[in-house]
Amino acid sequence: MQDSKKIILSGMRPTGKLHIGHYVGALENWVTLQNDYQNYHLIADYHTLTTNLDTSNIFDDSIDMAIDWIASGIDPVKSPIFRQSKIKEHTELFLIFSMLITKARLERNPTLKEQIKDMNISSIIYGHLGYPVLQAADILLYKGNMVPVGEDQVPHVEITRQIAGVFNEKFPMPDGRQIFPIPEPKITKFARLPGLDGKAKMSKSLDNTILISDNEEIIKAKMKKAFTDPNKLRKGDKGNPDICLVYTYHNKFNPAEVPEVRKGCSEGTLGCFDCKMNISKKISDYFAPIREKREILENNKNNILDILIDGENRARTIARQTMSEVREAMKIG
Ligand code: SF4
Repeated sequence: MQDSKKIILSGMRPTGKLHIGHYVGALENWVTLQNDYQNYHLIADYHTLTTNLDTSNIFDDSIDMAIDWIASGIDPVKSPIFRQSKIKEHTELFLIFSMLITKARLERNPTLKEQIKDMNISSIIYGHLGYPVLQAADILLYKGNMVPVGEDQVPHVEITRQIAGVFNEKFPMPDGRQIFPIPEPKITKFARLPGLDGKAKMSKSLDNTILISDNEEIIKAKMKKAFTDPNKLRKGDKGNPDICLVYTYHNKFNPAEVPEVRKGCSEGTLGCFDCKMNISKKISDYFAPIREKREILENNKNNILDILIDGENRARTIARQTMSEVREAMKIG
């Protein structure tokens, strides 16, 4: 029996160790939300197949990601953590939902357009089109009321809302009850953390990340190559912090010194090397407690697997209940 808290489903594709962009963009928010909502945290391994058919590391990547989640403060007792592929009901509901939405509607999805914009037409797979339908199944299987998303993900939630509405209308329960809530996007206020190269997004594929697990030495080495104001070549040159990536990091991880950094940069009394070493230490300090916790978890990977199995058992119970209602409403199975 689920309690009366609103339900949130949030997830990530397992890409192994997470970077600090994941933390700022999602994890930090999830940790806050877990006190007020019933959260389910999905390791979206099936979604990974959309862009990568090499599954050789998927198990290890899932474990590594779960370690980062838990070390960052996700409480798996409060909020089950589970692998999508372990709950077969996701694919079953996905199949049913794929009959409720047109190809034209999915083709209008702006996220799809963005995802495939540089791809050759012959390499676009059905999975690209069906991605938001599987996402709808992920959310609605647990009767999610809210979906924490950034602005760019809102169209996916709209597709989920549409599918839930169509299903409810076509297949009410015998007593007239509608099975699915119409979930609301819960737009998160965080800014996306840019990558070290100054690109808008921190991403492993762009090789511009700082990992949550990176220690101070590694962060300093990576930071040396970080993008700054290209016109500030040496200490003494006046810089423009507003176009400098490193300044963005100061804003997030070193707010107390932001006025000082701004002044020093603009007046030329602060050099980029010192500025970078300073923020590297601040980032390292910020994540030190998480690093410590993740080291302990990493040395007990069997426990992480047990946590996932427990989360999967709890998630499966809910998923089976939902599918039993779906079958009853549809008079199939
Ligand atoms: S001094 Fe700091 S804020 Fe200014 S350009 Fe250099 S790294 Fe960026």
